[in-house]
Amino acid sequence: MYPKLEINIDKLIHNAKEINKLLINNNITSRFLVTKVLAGEKKIVEALLDTGFTHLADSRIQNLKAFSKFNLPKVLLRIPSKSEVANTVKFADISLNSELETIKLLNKEANKQNKIHKIILMFDLGDLREGIFYKDNYLKIIEEILKLENINLYGIGTNLTCYGGVIPTPTNLGELIKIKNSIKLNLNHSLEIISGGNSSSIPLIFDKNLPADINNLRLGEIVFFGRETAYGKQLDSLYNDAFKLILQVIELKEKPSYPIGIIGLNSFGEIPDIVDKGRMKRAILAIGKQDIDLNNIFPENKNIKILDASSDHLICEVTKAKLKVGSILKFNLNYPGLLQLMTSKYITKQIKKSKS
Ligand SMILES: *Cc1c(COP(=O)(O)O)cnc(C)c1O
Repeated sequence: MYPKLEINIDKLIHNAKEINKLLINNNITSRFLVTKVLAGEKKIVEALLDTGFTHLADSRIQNLKAFSKFNLPKVLLRIPSKSEVANTVKFADISLNSELETIKLLNKEANKQNKIHKIILMFDLGDLREGIFYKDNYLKIIEEILKLENINLYGIGTNLTCYGGVIPTPTNLGELIKIKNSIKLNLNHSLEIISGGNSSSIPLIFDKNLPADINNLRLGEIVFFGRETAYGKQLDSLYNDAFKLILQVIELKEKPSYPIGIIGLNSFGEIPDIVDKGRMKRAILAIGKQDIDLNNIFPENKNIKILDASSDHLICEVTKAKLKVGSILKFNLNYPGLLQLMTSKYITKQIKKSKS
């Protein structure tokens, strides 16, 4: 059935193993596989369990619940909401946190469930997404956390290159190390994990610039697309095409390129911006904006040009392509595209097992 997302599991296993080799060689002893882009798809995660990652990390508690039967410890990446506290303790071994109020609720709940819940306290080093701002007085908060009997302050972490696009450097990550040292010095608490970010921290490893005390990274895009996210560079040793979108032509006709009649709004309430190129061969493919943002997919066949889409019809200019009704077309995608396609229940997901 089309539209279909074809997943080459061998390419993903290759990427995952290569990344783990790199991390192990650089003393990253704790390695989180960030699965959120897979929208809880168990078969892919299962295939990646033995590639060297030490934990499964996801931003949605429903996904961690789906991974319950897998042996690796689970990490909730998005700061838990108060309404999620019970499920966080139930389905996550570790959660990332930044709010004392929520951490106290986690403590209460962990007591109820007879568990010790581990937390990684997040620090904002300037990217301005989650975390305690690094210049604020954090020791008071940590003193409070250390009093909680069912909470283990397992580590500290930071997240960069997410909202503000701030690139990890020895200087900003150095602030995290200072925090670690200050916690040891002032509160005599040793942390197991110093979590130095996501796929945007990979270039620091190549440049031998990752501060030595960083012993954990949380990685998604570099595994699924072989791309670091500080500068957007593709790693030669990794595949970027483990995922392909496959679509079928449902209409193929020669028509004018410019609409005929009085022009108002299109199906998304916008004024269409259409260039008159005379008559052209046009194909309609069975996918739409309900499933994907058109900027996130790239036709493999260079003779195909995406014109626009409505919620379920993708319109392409195909003048130079040899096609018929029913032809199959392949598209490459990027990380946001994969996120959308995995989330759409209208896309068939098919796992393929060869490197071809
Ligand atoms: C998504 C996410 C990651 C993974 O980011 P990538 O750039 O895909 O490696 C790491 N940490 C947190 C908190 C995240 O939300």
